[in-house]
Amino acid sequence: MQDTVSLVRCPDYDKRNIRKSLDAVLEPLGGITAFVKSGQRVLLKPNLLSPRPLEQRVVTDPVLVEAVARMVLEAGARPFIADSPALEPFAKIVKVTGLDRIAGELGISVRELKDPRPIPSNRVALFKNLEIAADAMEADQVINLPKLKTHCQMLLTLGVKNLFGVIVAQRKAEWHGMVGASRRTFASLLLDINQAVNPGLTILDGVWGMEGHGPSNGRPRHFGVLAASKNALALDMTMCRLLGVSLEDYPLYLAARERGAPELEQDAVKVLAPGIEMPLVTDLELPQLGSMEMLPGFLTSFSRRYLVSKPVQDKKACRLCGKCVRICPVNCLEILQNRMTFDYDRCIRCYCCQEVCPENAISFKKGLLAKVLKGIGR
Ligand code: SF4
Ligand code: SF4
Repeated sequence: MQDTVSLVRCPDYDKRNIRKSLDAVLEPLGGITAFVKSGQRVLLKPNLLSPRPLEQRVVTDPVLVEAVARMVLEAGARPFIADSPALEPFAKIVKVTGLDRIAGELGISVRELKDPRPIPSNRVALFKNLEIAADAMEADQVINLPKLKTHCQMLLTLGVKNLFGVIVAQRKAEWHGMVGASRRTFASLLLDINQAVNPGLTILDGVWGMEGHGPSNGRPRHFGVLAASKNALALDMTMCRLLGVSLEDYPLYLAARERGAPELEQDAVKVLAPGIEMPLVTDLELPQLGSMEMLPGFLTSFSRRYLVSKPVQDKKACRLCGKCVRICPVNCLEILQNRMTFDYDRCIRCYCCQEVCPENAISFKKGLLAKVLKGIGR
């Protein structure tokens, strides 16, 4: 059966504009009542990565989250807002975003995803030992609310990647440590999480997003769109086309192709985008970073060290807060005598340290591989 991806223009986060655009983007999909029924417990899963100011466009905008919560309430269902940040305190994020106040006004719960539960093995393809938060398992419906951003490890973070948030807190780092060295394997893990959570609806916040070194330290960019689909993977592939991103560079596409995902077949997805050109942008700044898996296996760790981009500390910007040390999944980073030291032989180039740094004090020194890729326009 054909999946539909619906796209509409939305200029800003004015409450009336957001509501009007939400009604318009959901209309071809049957409206909100096609997804939620009276009395259902509905998890709203925004991207709540860190307590940055909203203007930095790191999180799903709270105006959108509030508008979706109101629609779910109007449908007679019981929404709650939840996510599990990898490192930052959840209470601080909901305070900075105003989601604690919004939830209070609406009389709904906003809470951290906790309590990991094993997934029945028939709900995943490969990662049978996957555990996800109880709230995500037990909700009657999940509405996925990602933010449009670039991502240093996965190129883009959209619908499918946003669901990594149902892996509880520090267990994210464990998964990065286990499979993070290969972007394609990590993408395959994300496909399993998407399959396990099975969100009924994904609504992407692409009004303002991020380019460059996302998902935390890139540049805000105005795209002016909302996108919605019941199929998160179909939505992500459509967004690649919209953003002028080559699918061959997108690890999620490569992993989905390996699995023979039906969403990738010709004519499998119907795109409804009135008045929106494809591509919408042709100059999106993507992270230009090499990964270990792009190198042949016979190379020594010495060669890899010089060929692949590596994290480096910006000593002037660094406040020695230690967040990067705490998130590193392979413990190859430490602070010694007020200096950070990286063990590049063990570093898997997962870019988690760059993602969590609140001062944008970790940059990546381009390795030869990234320079060559840039030179040939990849
Ligand atoms: S690099 Fe960033 S995260 Fe790491 S210690 Fe410095 S300020 Fe903290
Ligand atoms: S140093 Fe940074 S890039 Fe390397 S493994 Fe640790 S978190 Fe990942």
